[in-house]
Amino acid sequence: MNIFFASFKDEKDIPSGILVVIQDITEHVKLDNMRKEFVADVSHELKTPITSIMGYADTLLESEYDKDMQEKFLNVISQEARRMAKLVTDLLTLSRYDTNKVKKEITEFDLGELVKNCQEKLQLEINKKHHEVECFVTANVPPVKADKDGIERVVLNILTNSIKYTPENGKIKIYVGFVYNDAYIKVIDNGIGIPEEDLNRIFERFYRVDKARTRQMGGTGLGLSIAKEILDQNNSSIDIKSKVGEGTEIVIRIPTK
Ligand code: ADP
Repeated sequence: MNIFFASFKDEKDIPSGILVVIQDITEHVKLDNMRKEFVADVSHELKTPITSIMGYADTLLESEYDKDMQEKFLNVISQEARRMAKLVTDLLTLSRYDTNKVKKEITEFDLGELVKNCQEKLQLEINKKHHEVECFVTANVPPVKADKDGIERVVLNILTNSIKYTPENGKIKIYVGFVYNDAYIKVIDNGIGIPEEDLNRIFERFYRVDKARTRQMGGTGLGLSIAKEILDQNNSSIDIKSKVGEGTEIVIRIPTK
């Protein structure tokens, strides 16, 4: 709390009172702390791959290794550099959404078609993990009016997560439908699931259920926070239900009016 005092006088120059301004700065302090935390998180997330790149590069420079070993080290360097690039790209995306710098083009489009296109884009990853993906679109979904590129980004992120966090030969079901003036997409996987205590935190920036494991899978912990930001900006919502070892269900609702 900030408190300011100022005395004031009447027209005869006689002190006649004190003006007290009490300012509630809780929100300000909270925001400032969030900003500090964010900077610390970003630095930490960037430092991890940099340390690893430096270590492997120095080792390669210092001694002679056979070709196999060299290749192994170079692969780590390349992987870590890619992770850093993805992190920076995600950060830039998030910041562009935060500062409203992303051009939003509101158009009418068919949600079922968009979801099917996203599935096609991810077919390679789906095949790699031998998942069975089924997509059901009910006939009555009217066109939605939203930022198509943004919604596509969200759907790609959610499907990518289902593919990533479901062990091989998994089952992923996608439903596109319409209820109470909202179009919805429901993605259900039978993957590793999310512990209950983590569920309400996974939309936070950099939050990952298991840092070491998701980092290995190439996750930055920014995907769902970007998704949430985009959906907020499109008056849309996201809900998640999950059970460890059983799977995860994510529902996105987008208004059609
Ligand atoms: P990441 O880039 O790490 O995947 P996200 O923000 O997209 O970041 O997701 C945050 C975390 O939520 C992930 O690290 C993962 O632990 C968890 N998660 C998201 N989707 C799923 C899912 N379908 N199944 C299990 N865990 C998930």
